[in-house]
Amino acid sequence: VLYRQPMKLAVLGSGPSAFYLTQRLLNQLPATTNDAVHMYERLPVPFGLVRYGVAPDHPDVKNCTNSFSRAAQDSRFELYGGVSVGSHNAAQEHKRTLQVSLADISKHYTHLAFSYGAANATHLSSVHGSAGSPNRIQRGVYSASEIVGWYNGHPDYMHLHDAIVNDLMKARKVAIIGQGNVGLDIARMLVTTDYTKLAKTDIPSKVLTTLQNTSIKHVDLIGRRGIGQVAFTAKETREMMHLPHVAMQGIDKHAMHEVMTQGDAQGDKEWRAKKRILSLLSDGSTCKETEATRTWGLKFLLSPIEFVSEGDSLNKINFAVNKLTQSAPSTSVIGSEPATQSPPRLLATPTDQTHEEQYDLVIESIGYRSEQIDDIPFDASKGVIRNSGGRVVDDEGANIPNVYSTGWASRGPVGVIASTMYDSYSVADTILQDLHNDDDGATPSTRLDWAPSIKSPQQGVPQSVQDYAVKWRDWERINEAEIAQGQANGKIREKMLTIDEMYEVLAR
Ligand code: FAD
Repeated sequence: VLYRQPMKLAVLGSGPSAFYLTQRLLNQLPATTNDAVHMYERLPVPFGLVRYGVAPDHPDVKNCTNSFSRAAQDSRFELYGGVSVGSHNAAQEHKRTLQVSLADISKHYTHLAFSYGAANATHLSSVHGSAGSPNRIQRGVYSASEIVGWYNGHPDYMHLHDAIVNDLMKARKVAIIGQGNVGLDIARMLVTTDYTKLAKTDIPSKVLTTLQNTSIKHVDLIGRRGIGQVAFTAKETREMMHLPHVAMQGIDKHAMHEVMTQGDAQGDKEWRAKKRILSLLSDGSTCKETEATRTWGLKFLLSPIEFVSEGDSLNKINFAVNKLTQSAPSTSVIGSEPATQSPPRLLATPTDQTHEEQYDLVIESIGYRSEQIDDIPFDASKGVIRNSGGRVVDDEGANIPNVYSTGWASRGPVGVIASTMYDSYSVADTILQDLHNDDDGATPSTRLDWAPSIKSPQQGVPQSVQDYAVKWRDWERINEAEIAQGQANGKIREKMLTIDEMYEVLAR
């Protein structure tokens, strides 16, 4: 066996992409070597969107954390939680969160992996009154990350609790802008009446109480394109159609028929998956509208142009009515990879018609974006770290040796946990391949003060990290306390809703 320098890897983030990468590497590397994987997470608790994105009524999806926790038992692994890497959002971090620059971390490592996700909401910033505009309406306008963060007990969003309670108590009719799975999750959480089931999950008790007491009667999911472009998956659609006491209001049968006929003529693989979803929608809900406690609907070809307030609350939304037009095929080049042609897409083009509708609450669910940490090469137009198959490249496309990216930060905010897993496995395999290939290939064209110290990394971790970070055994104590409180309340766990509470457990 050829001598190889031990790999000392810092992974930024502790969501599925970070854990699947870690798991694969630790499984494949011989346990006898001095390799190490250190995971840096800005929150004192791990698992990213599994804990704070996946809806509480999908506990099975969260089972992946069991295998993550097994991987964390490996003696080559350590978690450094409560450490936010980079100076990009220092001002917003909690006072207990340790702020460390990437350059300070990288001195200690031979390898870096950026797996820090894409959990910031994309905003309708050009829409007057929206969450992203300077004229944001004070009440009744939220982004998906705010609502999802709130119902999942994310400490970054709990300051919104009182405002959300206030708005949900008054709102009868809700608009969700966007027709993807996140929008569907939010709609389901707002219209479900199965509180007995929900009460046993990890939903924060005060969130459940709020949901039980809302005035909501109807939720619309609004898309800028047509029925054929809904971005739900079949499992989530089926679940929505079978919710007890909840009915979908009729869908435009004529438009549906037209899309079905066109799709059948096309007949490709993508269409077959889409057809399953459209058939589910077309079949209608199991609950009849006349017997429903709450209803929901889909609206198409509408783009908000203005959220209109009455006082400081939302009153109605003005929409542009769109038509579908076909884009020209486009060519894109990523790093040194060959150019790819993307097929023409159907675009929403506004007509001169508008539509006005009364709503009490609006939630913008039009996607997520990643952010640049320090000066990591970042493609701002795509909102991803510049990389070629998981190898991070500089702005000229040259490979930065021993630096990798995985998950939503690398590929953009699309894909379920399973696709994130495949991505991380493939990046892990690339790392293993490069490890055995001593010549690391191209050198970056610019000097980077945060490049890893490939030949002579400093021992251990930065002193402040060693002294203050939340290690895996600390997280286990938080975890045990949450589970114990959950048992007392007859549920899976009762999450701690503030960072202070988490540190209080550790101080005991
Ligand atoms: P994340 O899970 O976001 O993890 C990134 C981690 O990095 C976070 O813990 C974050 O705190 C940390 N971090 C960020 N910045 C820093 C920093 N500067 N320093 C240190 N740490 C940092 N998939 C399913 O299969 N089923 C579902 O039901 C499902 N529901 C979803 C619901 C929502 C609302 C969303 C948004 C996604 C859902 N997904 C679901 C998709 C799934 O969550 C993603 O595929 C997956 O979480 C992406 O993993 P990731 O590791 O790239 O990012």
